[in-house]
Amino acid sequence: MMPGSIRLFVVDALHAGANFALSAAQAHYLGSVMRRSVGDALRLFNGRDGEFSARIERIRRGKATVIVEGLLRPQAPETDLWLAFTPLKRDATDLLVQKATELGVAALLPVMTERTNASRVNLERLAAIATEAAEQSERLSVPRLHPPAPLHALLADWPAERILFVALERSDSPAIRPASGPAGILIGPEGGFSPLDRTLIQNGHQCTQVSLGPRILRAETAAIVALALLQAPGYG
Ligand code: SAH
Repeated sequence: MMPGSIRLFVVDALHAGANFALSAAQAHYLGSVMRRSVGDALRLFNGRDGEFSARIERIRRGKATVIVEGLLRPQAPETDLWLAFTPLKRDATDLLVQKATELGVAALLPVMTERTNASRVNLERLAAIATEAAEQSERLSVPRLHPPAPLHALLADWPAERILFVALERSDSPAIRPASGPAGILIGPEGGFSPLDRTLIQNGHQCTQVSLGPRILRAETAAIVALALLQAPGYG
């Protein structure tokens, strides 16, 4: 059993003996929700220094400080997979961000296409969901969350050496296959890609169109399936 089932993401540097305050939300979670007290163990990670065991040093009225003990897992390279998705209805977007984080994505890139319905994205809310999913799934990092960008800008800024798989329904594109090396997947909105979007994608040098099978999947399902298949048969 790992020391302390509670696992929290922090921004502070982690090393044996480090000593710092948790956020007010984390202190509330530890004290009021989980009923933890002084001396109780927990685990911490920050995306840079690996995972450490720690103990609660003080906890009182929405404030908590911790003392970091030993290294449990050194920082290690993680899946190098990015997900570009168009904001959906709130619940669907939340689900997509949570599941994509569990499936190991390194970066989440909201993209605005012609048929994207949501006019804005609550980045703070999505960051909180991604952080919670990273804590729960024992990742050593939280995915990077980019500000929304229009499709043409996403494609223009996409790194040349990173293959971008584009999930296209109702096409005779080849089935999606496991990726080796840096890759990303682009999932369209509920209304599908418009003719203009498709032209941009066809002209995108890094783009490879792929199919996810004969059925029409909801965008959030398509994202989950694509992320699983890109990592099949083994998860690195
Ligand atoms: N309204 C569209 C479906 C959009 S599905 C229609 O009826 O045709 C939302 C997104 O999920 C699509 O843009 C695509 O990126 C992805 N998707 C869904 N099913 C897919 C499939 N079978 N193959 C590839 N991509 C798929």
